[in-house]
Amino acid sequence: MGTIYLDHAATTPVHPRVLKAMLPYLQEQYGNPSGVYHLAREAKKALEAARERVAQFIGAQAQEIVFTSGGTESDNMALQGVARANRGRGNHIITTSIEHHAVLDTALALEKEGFSVTYLPVDEYGLVRVADLKKAIRDDTILISIMYANNEVGTIQPIGDIGRVAREHNIIFHTDAVQAAGYLPLDVNRDGVDLLSLSAHKLYGPKGVGALYIRKGTRIDTLLKGGGQERKWRPGTENVAGIVGLGEAVGLAREKMQERGARLRHLRDMLIAGVLGGIDFARLNGHPEKRLPGNAHFIFEFIEGESLLLSLDLEGIAGSSGSACTSGSLEPSHVLLAMGIPHELAHGSLRLTLGDGNTEEDIKRVLAVLPPVVKRLRDMSPLYSQNAEVSNC
Ligand code: PLP
Repeated sequence: MGTIYLDHAATTPVHPRVLKAMLPYLQEQYGNPSGVYHLAREAKKALEAARERVAQFIGAQAQEIVFTSGGTESDNMALQGVARANRGRGNHIITTSIEHHAVLDTALALEKEGFSVTYLPVDEYGLVRVADLKKAIRDDTILISIMYANNEVGTIQPIGDIGRVAREHNIIFHTDAVQAAGYLPLDVNRDGVDLLSLSAHKLYGPKGVGALYIRKGTRIDTLLKGGGQERKWRPGTENVAGIVGLGEAVGLAREKMQERGARLRHLRDMLIAGVLGGIDFARLNGHPEKRLPGNAHFIFEFIEGESLLLSLDLEGIAGSSGSACTSGSLEPSHVLLAMGIPHELAHGSLRLTLGDGNTEEDIKRVLAVLPPVVKRLRDMSPLYSQNAEVSNC
């Protein structure tokens, strides 16, 4: 039996259509887009066609798209670039306590450079309160950075409302839409977004390529210095094949979004109902409705997420205890802690994120495997036997 892959929030397989679109640019169409001859012009044409597709995907104009090496670079450029270019206007940045480390650690680094950062709290579902945002705004606030949807618990933020507040106060607004892209319809004008981060490998494109949308007129410094590529926003010879892959991936996402969303929601709800109905002391994390269609995130009391993952791996099921970057560390997830989940519970988390390749059969298999695995791990836990006795009284 093959692996049941339930870690699509970490990465997705490259779609065959994406691979097919990329291959010529790794082989016969190898020109450097900066050249003047035919081969180079072909590469340049492909680059600009991909830029147009990415722009359409988020309701932007092509010249507002800068290609990067992925979500991490886009987030770094948005925060560092805006902070440094707007220092004359102010020193204060607002973000949240549940951002991906690409934003969070950049904000921490900016604090060391002398910027002042407010980390907004979230409620028990992982939602930012717009009232808290309004209260945090100061005369010297230059940037708000709030993710579209959370990579761990899948909660979707009220991005349109946040964008309106940013507009009213004339503050630049960045959103990390890496997890939302391909699942939620994005529109930078509807949502009042000035900068938006994307990553190809979360939506069936290749790893190591992404984009940053920069609204025309936004003051931003570059991270890298070098040649004149990407109109000097992002020097370095372009990853032509990767960028073509990103273009194809967003094209595919536009075509499939509705059908994909409905399918994933159905499978996700089947999984959630089965787990909550079939396992004691299990709870769902994140918002019950405002959540990504493929995200199911649980806590199982009295067990360690890491042991659960290893046991599932032996059964051929690939899941995660949180984000890929935090698994392997013994610290519980900052997202779960920010949602008010106590340390000891946060250790027992399991994130299962569904994708195009998953079927009802996969979910049935998970629902057959998970309860006995959880039971076996709990039987080894002294905490569980104590508690089970208490709850039997
Ligand atoms: N932002 C979010 C919300 C993510 O989930 C990820 C990937 O895990 C990133 C940023 C980083 O993207 P990349 O892996 O392309 O650097």
